[in-house]
Amino acid sequence: MVAFIRSLAAINNDSSQNKSFIELQISSLHTQRESILNSTLKCRIIFGNFCELFKMIETHAHIYDEAFDADRSAMLDRAFAAGVAQIWMPNCDHTTIDGMMQLATQYAGVCLPMMGLHPTYVKADFERELYLVEDWLNKYPFVAIGEIGMDLYWDKTFVAQQEAAFLAQCELAIKHHLWIDIHSRNAFWEVVALIEKVGNPALTGIFHCFTGTLEEAQKAIDLGFKLGIGGVATFKNGGLDKILPYVDLQHLVLETDSPYLAPVPHRGKRNEVSFVEIVAQRVADLKQMPVAQVITQTTGNAQILLANKNVVAQLQ
Ligand SMILES: [Zn+2]
Repeated sequence: MVAFIRSLAAINNDSSQNKSFIELQISSLHTQRESILNSTLKCRIIFGNFCELFKMIETHAHIYDEAFDADRSAMLDRAFAAGVAQIWMPNCDHTTIDGMMQLATQYAGVCLPMMGLHPTYVKADFERELYLVEDWLNKYPFVAIGEIGMDLYWDKTFVAQQEAAFLAQCELAIKHHLWIDIHSRNAFWEVVALIEKVGNPALTGIFHCFTGTLEEAQKAIDLGFKLGIGGVATFKNGGLDKILPYVDLQHLVLETDSPYLAPVPHRGKRNEVSFVEIVAQRVADLKQMPVAQVITQTTGNAQILLANKNVVAQLQ
């Protein structure tokens, strides 16, 4: 104790030594603070990414549709509360661009727009629509080209124009290093033939609202595409219960196609983004795995598509 008091006295008597002692303490405190801050930051980055993986990416929703005019922000709040981190918006034609871009601005980084001409909107004047698509692609960083493809369910009047529009937009996707969001209804093999005609492995994307056979699923996967799974997975005769148990989770992404195709128990009513959690649960049930695993992997799959932009660029 005496020695300790003597050393304190010595420090007190020698002001220079006293100063350096205090400085040493302060600098040590700074180092400790920095290391705590660094590890907090590291934790935040790791934990932040970790949390993102437990959130869903809704890969296909027409949230600009007039069906949501009365309660759009409440509908989106319900989606965020359900764990949706991002909503990708497919375009239809020139009439849907303004509403979509307004949401892209209002919810920047969360509601991400695509650009493209939907096959059921392809008419005799489709080339005029495609000029507009290209014009937008030159001035805005869209997440994808979509939705594009072929629809032979409703009307076959413009089949040749649908093919031409799809091929032209595939070329735009390659040129702009973007993936494509495909709408194919009663036209899966027709779309496959066109993709093979383009013959560029850089062309990838999603077969949105996939409802085909196991053979068709395998073909889409072989072409490097993911399968967009939506509310049809919950339908009694939707057919996806026969194929989803056999398709690896790494090929699936989640979607709703809101306001269309609401899952059971909302079938026939307006669909909304928050219902994507019903789709995730249905996929989990069919594949007999925890829903957290479905969410983590499908979110990762969707993020790969975003990263794919760079891969596509490297392949050029
Ligand atoms: Zn759609």
